[in-house]
Amino acid sequence: PYDVLVVGGGAAGASAAIYAARKGVRTGIVADRFGGQMLDTVGIENFISVKATEGAKLVANLEEHVRDYDVDIITDQLANDITEATEEGEMVTVELASGATLYSRSVIVATGARWRKMNVKGESAYLNHGVHFCHHCDGNFYTGKKVAVIGGGNSGIEAAIDLAAITEHVTVLEFADTLRADEVLQQRANDTANLTIIKMALTTEVIGDGKKMNGLRYEDRNSGEQHQLNVDGVFVQIGLQPNSEFLVDKIERNGRQEIITDKKGATSMTGVFAAGDVTDSPYKQIIIAMGSGSTAALTATDYLVRFPAS
Ligand code: FAD
Repeated sequence: PYDVLVVGGGAAGASAAIYAARKGVRTGIVADRFGGQMLDTVGIENFISVKATEGAKLVANLEEHVRDYDVDIITDQLANDITEATEEGEMVTVELASGATLYSRSVIVATGARWRKMNVKGESAYLNHGVHFCHHCDGNFYTGKKVAVIGGGNSGIEAAIDLAAITEHVTVLEFADTLRADEVLQQRANDTANLTIIKMALTTEVIGDGKKMNGLRYEDRNSGEQHQLNVDGVFVQIGLQPNSEFLVDKIERNGRQEIITDKKGATSMTGVFAAGDVTDSPYKQIIIAMGSGSTAALTATDYLVRFPAS
């Protein structure tokens, strides 16, 4: 059994494990793949104190840092159920899809999230070569260039306004005939000279030269006409899905299925804490996930001190 079991091996999970292990408690990480979303990232230029790095490199550094401590790392395993401790200080149970069961006096859920994809031709082929999900992360690569944003919800319009400040032009493609973004954001978008919004647009393909994307194809859902938009990059903003399904209704989540935590990372389940993109934290970034991972670990170890094993 563990004192702290971290479910998830991304930025949040790795940070949580290091903070827990440094307290001298029995610590484990169980994850599908160590590194999480960072493995899908090429350039990272906003990990403060490191001017520029790449996802794979940052993951390697992170793994080296975790392995410097006495942390059990179990990979290629998916958690699919969790059971609350009978009382504070007692064991929380984590069931794995493989059939195994892990026991720990505290659990930190750091299972992250995944961006919803358009599932159109060319999207995967040009991922990180024109196709992006995070404008805070990759917007700067398109300074002075033309980009598109898919989705007219709050995140799409916010991204479009942000991107308009650094790019030559932004086109928003929205599937429906109205935008779901808040009125104030829509006003701002309308007042932005280099921002165009096209509604009733079904994106059908990402096109490019084999190395880098150079445009999008979309269908006008009113007329059925096909159009081509020449852009250097596209930011897909049609939703971020937290990996919280395995919790079913056992831990309180918000309407977006994000785990609700307090400022210290505590969840509604005794002995269970959460960190990173799977939570209701307002911004999803590596540095933020790491900060919340360390917060959750400090709260978990504090809990262990207050409720020692019986
Ligand atoms: P994740 O990285 O999603 O890790 C989740 C972990 O949980 C993984 O180990 C996964 O395998 C595991 N897991 C999931 N479900 C289960 C389960 N049921 N059982 C066991 N394990 C499970 N942020 C920046 O700050 N700068 C950037 O430049 C940047 N670029 C990005 C580019 C891309 C393409 C993407 C997708 C994201 C980018 N981000 C960037 C966002 C950043 O990667 C995330 O905010 C951060 O990595 C979240 O960390 P996390 O640990 O919360 O979750």
